[in-house]
Amino acid sequence: TRTKLRMPLHHAMQAVHARLLPRHEGQVASYIPALAAMPPDLFGLAALSSTGKLMEVGDSRHPFTIQSVSKPFAYALALDLLGRRAVRDAVGVQPVGDPFNTIELDPRTRRPFNPMVNAGAIAVAGLLTDALGDRAFPTLQARLSLAAGATLELDSAVHDSEAATGDRNRAIAYLLRAAGVFRADPVRVVDVYFRQCALRVTARDLAVMAGTLAAIGSNPLTGAEVFGVEAVRDTLSVMFTCGFYDGAGDWACRVGLPAKSGVGGGVVAVVNRQLGLGVFSPRLDAEGNPLRGLLACEALSEELGLHAFDAT
Ligand code: GLN
Repeated sequence: TRTKLRMPLHHAMQAVHARLLPRHEGQVASYIPALAAMPPDLFGLAALSSTGKLMEVGDSRHPFTIQSVSKPFAYALALDLLGRRAVRDAVGVQPVGDPFNTIELDPRTRRPFNPMVNAGAIAVAGLLTDALGDRAFPTLQARLSLAAGATLELDSAVHDSEAATGDRNRAIAYLLRAAGVFRADPVRVVDVYFRQCALRVTARDLAVMAGTLAAIGSNPLTGAEVFGVEAVRDTLSVMFTCGFYDGAGDWACRVGLPAKSGVGGGVVAVVNRQLGLGVFSPRLDAEGNPLRGLLACEALSEELGLHAFDAT
């Protein structure tokens, strides 16, 4: 457990939001054509304490698609449903210095390096499809909604747009089945993954989802038991070491929080046992991470002393 924050969280959030609001570098993702329709300069921040206090600044209620921020939550679900052994047999926990959509398996194991890159997340979708069949996506949607304390709906325009252009992810799914990671039809598996990525959230929803991880799996707003203790521990570990793809080591040093970004503009960060943060800012840096989202997490970590190894 932690000591008190250096200053009231809400003040820090307002100051960081005001300071970063004028930053307009980066571009909205357009490789999924429907994402390009997002107004680029929206900016929302939200935080939920593990005692259930919710704070919001700016465009914290504007909907966008969760994209890769879904990956840690899908991983936690798979750990809960299938157990650590089965999941670890299919996906590693090894950081990899490659972009998110790299078509590559760990040469030692012929498994994806970790569940935060696309290959690992598609492997998780494959495990869920093998186990649940047509119930895979509804189960994901229900569990992520429980974590958010709200019903997360599918954005079908974004889903259809990604399905129409997502050959790279389909290639990954075929590679994974060839390597024996799952048995289900790769086209079906990748569609579960595309649907998971096209769930609509807000920064507020992300803060509640992150707060659920911070509170070791129970939603601080609703009291729902969402994820088991062991699933949360493994999930936070891979978020800490692998959450930022090629920038993961830099992030661990600078910000020192388990976190995950998505190309829809979302970022979650977790202060273990204390706080969940959700940020929405659609302009992405060269690596595909929301630029102000990262800066906001960095500033809050710095100003409030949230770094996992903060000692001041
Ligand atoms: N659905 C997106 C993709 O697979 C998610 C990528 C991301 O958010 N980094 O390309």
